[in-house]
Amino acid sequence: MRKNETIPDSDWRDGFLFVGNDLALDFLNTRPVQNGEPTELLPDFGALLRWFQAAGLLSSHAVAKLQRQSGESAAARRTLDAMRQFREKLRKEVLAWEGGADVHHATVEELNRLMAAHPMLSKLQASGNIPSLELWFEPRQPEDLFAPLAHSAARLFAGVDHNRVRKCGQCVLHFHDTSKKGTRRWCSMQLCGNRLKVAAYAARQRRNAHER
Ligand SMILES: [Zn+2]
Repeated sequence: MRKNETIPDSDWRDGFLFVGNDLALDFLNTRPVQNGEPTELLPDFGALLRWFQAAGLLSSHAVAKLQRQSGESAAARRTLDAMRQFREKLRKEVLAWEGGADVHHATVEELNRLMAAHPMLSKLQASGNIPSLELWFEPRQPEDLFAPLAHSAARLFAGVDHNRVRKCGQCVLHFHDTSKKGTRRWCSMQLCGNRLKVAAYAARQRRNAHER
């Protein structure tokens, strides 16, 4: 799976945002609000596959294979629908959880059901001196794309301090604050931090001009 400890230089990667420091949050962030309008970054199954590739979850080869085998299928359409529904349910759950609420029983059950049906597999990688344990999954059918999403959502709730996960102060994006101080407020400097700073600067200038 993708190593996501650092924020990439550019916030957009292949048309998607990876500012969450967490796969489940990056998935939530596939519906940002731009110029006041919610923007669906996953309008079709092809876009969903491109997101999986941009997230480092699928190779271009795997994407091409899935597109060829199931791109036009009913299962692909169903999966896209189910994933967008899952995303919006997860958004509500994450928002409440960030505020200190317990994860709902129904959500726990749904995640368990998804993880049982579409499990992540583990693999011992022995390249280099120190072997490492890596997670992988094999998407035989579109529904299997749930494997890394359900797994990362479960890992978020089980393994991350909810005080370190928050929504951007300026927009709808969520992130896991992995900074030392834990005072990150924005999804990214480029998207919201600078905008806010520019606005504050302009306000200061206006005040100064007024007082002069
Ligand atoms: Zn933001």
